[in-house]
Amino acid sequence: TLHVKDIVNDKGKMKNKENMKDPRIYDVKDPSAFIFNPTTSTTYMKGKLLGKGGFAKCYELTDLKTDKVYAGKIIAKTRISKPHQKEKIVREIELHRTLDHKHVVGFHSFFEDDENVYIILEKCSKKSLVHVMKNRSTITEPEVRYYIRRLVYGCQYIHSQHIIHRDLKLGNMLLNSNMDIKIGDFGLATKVDYEGEKKMTVCGTPNYIAPEVLQKKGHSYEADIWAIGCIMYALLVGRPPFETATLKETYNRITHNKYSIPPHLSLEAKKLIKALLSNNPEDRPTLEEIPLHPFFLSGFEPKHLSDSACVSAPKFP
Ligand code: ADP
Repeated sequence: TLHVKDIVNDKGKMKNKENMKDPRIYDVKDPSAFIFNPTTSTTYMKGKLLGKGGFAKCYELTDLKTDKVYAGKIIAKTRISKPHQKEKIVREIELHRTLDHKHVVGFHSFFEDDENVYIILEKCSKKSLVHVMKNRSTITEPEVRYYIRRLVYGCQYIHSQHIIHRDLKLGNMLLNSNMDIKIGDFGLATKVDYEGEKKMTVCGTPNYIAPEVLQKKGHSYEADIWAIGCIMYALLVGRPPFETATLKETYNRITHNKYSIPPHLSLEAKKLIKALLSNNPEDRPTLEEIPLHPFFLSGFEPKHLSDSACVSAPKFP
């Protein structure tokens, strides 16, 4: 039989990494290092912290049977006290679990125990476009074509499932090790129940909120197109189009469609941003039209991106 001292050194660290895979042993030191899904009898080994959000902590989780590595969003139940917080998580699970697409973060499973809710997701090891922009500050037009095209494809799929994401932003555009874009975080998403339905409110605060959402006039899929415009602007300019010191002033600018585009952007980029940021939702291009815009047809677009693009500008032919 094995003893704790054979496996764990005096600092509580594992002496032999292989032993970490035996829950009977590791349990002794840290019961939370293994997570058990009773419905499927799956045991996950908790690895490094991938990131923290408003509610969740996200860890690398390895399925001990298959050795597959996932991102596990762990939400402490003590943090879900208010009804709207619970609603956000339920909605996130309900909508995200129905989706399956190359450009949407894969939803694997979910379960709970007394302390936490666990959401097992496809791991996106290159984090998100927030992290790219932290390192780069702005990115090149060829890269923007690459990212926006994939965002549009993911969005086409989401809309085809009658879902509006409502919180598309740099932090919800995740990247896997292959630099594929994966849309995540369905906490503010909603299901459209019938054609032409207008949603009146959002339970929460979208980052790139469209004017019709702000004014509670009734909104639909076009709110996501607006956010794509804000994302494209932010990638090329290095800051969001309506950013000010206060939320009140930002909302005022959104309502009055008050923003300016730096002159150094290409004419085609400026035209596409203007179209996407049309005040009237009906004036915005559709997801089918966006990849046919001159911005996409008139310049180089890489078929793949190297992960070095997370830290420095790629050299294109
Ligand atoms: P919250 O709903 O609490 O805001 P997030 O969904 O933003 O939580 O997740 C928190 C952090 O975890 C994110 O900022 C991101 O860095 C990381 N994260 C989320 N999902 C994944 C994933 N699928 N792969 C890798 N990291 C992820």
